[in-house]
Amino acid sequence: MQGIKRFIRTVVILALLGVIGFTVYNVFFLKPKVENLQQLEKLPKKKEVSLIVSPRAYVDRVVVKALQGSREVLIFEGKLPKTVNEVSFTVEPKKLGLKDGEARVVVELRRFFLLKDSFEVKALVDTQPPRVHLIYAPYVVLQGGSGGIRAKLSEPARLFVEVGGRKFRSYKVKGNVYIALFGVPVDTSTRDVIKVVAVDDVGNRTVIPLGTGIKRNRFQSLRIELRGKEKVMIPKLHAILGGDYEDLSFVELFKKVNEDVRRENERKIAEIGGNSANQRFWRGRFIQMKNSKVISRYGEKRTYTYRGKVISRSRHMGYDLASVKNARVPAANYGVVVFAGDLGIYGNTVIIDHGYGLMTLYAHLADFKVKEGDAVRKGQTIGYTDMTGLAFGDHLHFGVLIDGYEVTPLEWWDRKWIRTRIEPVFSE
Ligand SMILES: [Zn+2]
Repeated sequence: MQGIKRFIRTVVILALLGVIGFTVYNVFFLKPKVENLQQLEKLPKKKEVSLIVSPRAYVDRVVVKALQGSREVLIFEGKLPKTVNEVSFTVEPKKLGLKDGEARVVVELRRFFLLKDSFEVKALVDTQPPRVHLIYAPYVVLQGGSGGIRAKLSEPARLFVEVGGRKFRSYKVKGNVYIALFGVPVDTSTRDVIKVVAVDDVGNRTVIPLGTGIKRNRFQSLRIELRGKEKVMIPKLHAILGGDYEDLSFVELFKKVNEDVRRENERKIAEIGGNSANQRFWRGRFIQMKNSKVISRYGEKRTYTYRGKVISRSRHMGYDLASVKNARVPAANYGVVVFAGDLGIYGNTVIIDHGYGLMTLYAHLADFKVKEGDAVRKGQTIGYTDMTGLAFGDHLHFGVLIDGYEVTPLEWWDRKWIRTRIEPVFSE
C-alpha cells in the first residue's frame, strides 16, 4: 500500500514539474517570432499582408500599429486562428491617415494575458503609382507579329507590355525612359487589349491600355502522316531523347519528343531569351539566307497522324528555308552569340542576341562556326544547314525571338516595316 501511494505521489509531482517546466520553457525561453515581417517594409496604396507566427508559443492575439511622427494608428488587431499560425489583413495607408514617407510599424504578439513581444519594422509609405507617358506605340500589330513602345515614367519602375497572357519586359534607355519590344502570341484574339504595366519599387501599379489594334493573321494547317517514316525517325527520336526508351512504341516516342522535349526546349529558349543585352547591336533589316526557298511558314498548325489517327499536334514557330545541302547560314544582323549547342528538337542551334530582348535562332545546323560570346557581323557565316534534331530534310529553321517568344520573321526581313514600326521606338 505504502509503496503504491509513494509511487502515485512521485508520478503526480513529476507530472506537475513537467507542466510547470513546459510552461516556463514556453513563456520564458520559447519566444514567438514573426516570419515575414519584411512585407511591412514597403507600403504602397494597397497591400495584402499575411504574417506567420512561428513558433506559436501560446500567442493568441496579434496587434499591428503604425507610428508616424506623433501619430499612432491601428492597422490590425485580431486573434491568431487556432488552426493556422497566420493572420491576414489589408493595409491602405491613406485610409489609415498615414502620409507618404517613413513610418515605424510595430507588431505585438500577446500571450498569457500579460506577456507581449514586440517587433518593429522601418517602413516606407509610398502611395503614388508611377505615371506612364507613352512617347510611341504602334497603331496596329499582327497576330504572331511584333511591336514596340517607348515610354517615360515619373519614377523608376518595372515596365512591361502584356499581350495575349504574356509579359514582355522593357529596358531602360536613359533617365526614366524605357523601351519594350513585344510579340503578339499567335493565339491572341483580335479583341484582346494590349496593356502597358508599370510597377514601382514599393509595389504601386499602373495599367494603361495601349489602344493598338491587333490584325488577324492567316496561319496554314498541315497534316503529316508518319506511317512509313519510322525507319528514318526512330534513330532520330532516340538520339534526341538520349536515354533508354527502348520499350516505347514509335508513336509514344514521337509524342514524347514532339510534346515533352519541345516544351522543355521552349522553356530553355525562353530562359535564354530573357537575358538580352541592355543595348542595341543591330541595324537595318534582317537578312534571309541567300537563294533559299520557304518550305514552311511561321504559325503553321501541324497535326501528326499515324495510320490516319491523330497522335500529336504542334505549332511551327519559325520559317523553314531550304537551299542546297549544307548551305552557308549567315547571321541575320549584328549581335552576340548567346547559345551555340544542341537543343533537342532544334538540333544544333545558334542563338544571336541583338539587344533589348531581340534575338534570332538558327536550328538544324551541321555544326558551328561561332561560339558563345562571339560578336557577329550581319552576313557572317555562323554554320551550315543540315537536318539535326527533329527535321525531315536539310534546311534552316530561322526564328526571331522577342523576350524568348518566337514571332514571325517576315516583318524583320522588311526594311519598310522596320523603318515605320520599330525605328520610332529607338528615336528620341
Ligand atoms: Zn522549322
